Amino acid sequence: MKFLHSEKFLDMKAENLMIPLERVAHVQSKNNLEHALLVLTKSGYTAIPVLDYHDRLHGLISTPLIMEAILGLERIEFEKLESILVEEVMNKNIPRIRPESTLHQYLHLLVDHPFICIENDAGFFEGIVTRRVVLDLLTKH
Ligand code: AMP
Repeated sequence: MKFLHSEKFLDMKAENLMIPLERVAHVQSKNNLEHALLVLTKSGYTAIPVLDYHDRLHGLISTPLIMEAILGLERIEFEKLESILVEEVMNKNIPRIRPESTLHQYLHLLVDHPFICIENDAGFFEGIVTRRVVLDLLTKH
């Protein structure tokens, strides 16, 4: 019986666990680092998705990546925040899953990533699945 339950759990589709785009804090690739740092600080997240004007996913930007970009030899060069674009600093090498991907297919990704981005067949960003949502579901299971 327990086995049957876990089968159901692992069959859950990403689209059914997703935080949709409208509720995901994000920045655009052409925004500067000052804006990104503002969104990151205000949202309280350390990493958020980077999209373009058509809502296509380009990567992730994080506070550590921004700090590294403005770290000089002797000081943090905050004045650089304005002139560097998010697309110059973001991490482009990120896992992407489809809305119909099942937990069985992407659970392993949540070991190394606190959240996974969902992209549809047309390449548009739809939302994220977070480790918290999955663990919350598991504890209720
Ligand atoms: P959580 O599992 O809720 O702690 O979320 C893990 C990570 O997912 C956070 O640190 C953020 O990087 C990202 N995240 C969660 N919720 C959102 C959201 N609404 N908007 C943007 N990023 C989010």
